[in-house]
Amino acid sequence: MSDSIRVSVVGAGTMGNGIAQTFASHGHAVTLIDVDEAAIERGLAAIRKSLGRFVKKEAITQAEADATLGRIATSCELEPAVAAADLVVEAVFENEEVKKDIFRRLDAAAPAEAVLASNTSSISITRIANATSRPAQVIGMHFMNPVPLMKLVEIIRGERTSDETVARTVAWAEGLGKVTATAQDYPGFIANRVLMPMINEAAYALMEGVGSAEAIDTTMKLGCNFPMGPLTLADFIGLDVCVNILDVLHQGLGDPKYRCCPLLRRLVEAGKLGRKSGEGFYRYDD
Ligand code: NAD
Repeated sequence: MSDSIRVSVVGAGTMGNGIAQTFASHGHAVTLIDVDEAAIERGLAAIRKSLGRFVKKEAITQAEADATLGRIATSCELEPAVAAADLVVEAVFENEEVKKDIFRRLDAAAPAEAVLASNTSSISITRIANATSRPAQVIGMHFMNPVPLMKLVEIIRGERTSDETVARTVAWAEGLGKVTATAQDYPGFIANRVLMPMINEAAYALMEGVGSAEAIDTTMKLGCNFPMGPLTLADFIGLDVCVNILDVLHQGLGDPKYRCCPLLRRLVEAGKLGRKSGEGFYRYDD
């Protein structure tokens, strides 16, 4: 285990609670922050449930689960909760203005040597860093969902991120048992730059009647050895999230090959967002 540090996680949603759990289970002291008290309660409940599953699978003991929970403090106030942090990981809504406002406040409240990381899927780290007076210490730390299980952390280097910040962040991520891959700060980084055009193409293939959703997913699953087909994966990610990221790629890179498939956009406009709304490319009755 690497030396323990103090980590503040901003946002207790899907990603934030997973990030908090993962740091705490590796011995780090974590403060989980959210503006919404109910979101903190939901985040803690999700952590308890996830730890319970690990105990049931005998991957950890009940004592280890209890110790992990014991290392997680919570707060609804940002400034005092980051005042002693070595690392802050921001995981709030994917909105540039909201993130910039948080980074401005983090810059003022966190210790001078602290690293400020964002879990953004697609917003420019360079632009987020511009909201601070320490762009060399701002970095992308893109965890994957579900955080406790997924091996990868994509590290995104902003234009002014220092080598030292990259080295510290990689070491922290590896200390969590994760594998890192480093991307330069271009729209979509690596993961979404490669994944989203594939999902988009699958949506075009469906729209043009090349094959049914089942046929497209079966082909990619059994023919290309993917663990799940692209349309099933899109439903997991959320079709609204896919459209947003495609728009970021299209706008940021200016190439028409990133143009969002009209069928994908129409599903979102109809409220068919994937698993979370009960229907996307498929229907979910559970
Ligand atoms: P979410 O909607 O589940 O959670 C966001 C949380 O942020 C909410 O609890 C909200 O109350 C809180 N929040 C909003 N404004 C805040 C503020 N000013 N201060 C403190 N808390 C605030 O979102 P999520 O799915 O966890 O996504 C978070 C980030 O992670 C986004 O940038 C997203 O792009 C990225 N991401 C998501 C996934 C995924 O699969 N969900 C994967 C990788 C990266």
